[in-house]
Amino acid sequence: MQHFFTNRFGGVSQPPFDSLNLGLHVNDTALHVKENRERLKAQLGVSKLVFMDQIHSDKIVLIETGYETPECDAMISNVPDVALAVMVADCIPILFYDGVHQAIGVAHAGRVGTRLHVGQKTAQAMCETFGSSLDEMKIWMGPSIHSCCYEVGVEATLGFEKFLHVKEGKYFLDLQNYNREAFLALGIKPENLTISDVCTCCDADYFSYRREKQTGRFTGVIVL
Ligand SMILES: [Zn+2]
Repeated sequence: MQHFFTNRFGGVSQPPFDSLNLGLHVNDTALHVKENRERLKAQLGVSKLVFMDQIHSDKIVLIETGYETPECDAMISNVPDVALAVMVADCIPILFYDGVHQAIGVAHAGRVGTRLHVGQKTAQAMCETFGSSLDEMKIWMGPSIHSCCYEVGVEATLGFEKFLHVKEGKYFLDLQNYNREAFLALGIKPENLTISDVCTCCDADYFSYRREKQTGRFTGVIVL
């Protein structure tokens, strides 16, 4: 199994997508994105790399061939040599690994997906589909916008009351901790849960929608 999170370096896209933009939906030159995706495949050493058409939902798709391009926000698979990718620019990219049954998953968790518990549902889907156990599952949450920068309007705070930081009358949301507590409540072991402390809005090595508006997408990738 290999897994990692890309940053914005090593690709061919021009500003404001410079340079390793992996999103085809952000108005970058499609040929550049295709070249960037080929470079990522070569780095992984795989023949197939599956991206999602992400829609801020809790829809999970089982990947069986590697030729799918599903409209969803999470994928699970136990097929070797088929890498799964989740694209983000502030949302949380979540990777899942069951080393006992050799199964993997990815999920896209922004505010909407987090509220829908897309990450926790992905872990449960791996249990139902592959016989995975929550107490053996490893989970990584990659670079994403943290509460230092994630200001939200009061209308977006419902249900997140425990995870708000209030500064000068403004609300800042801690999505990472919300997901962490939800995973622990589900039965994931704390030692199997890793959260990147990189804030994409603070760290210019990563694409950030909040900081740049028109920008690229980086990815979390995992493959057996
Ligand atoms: Zn920040």
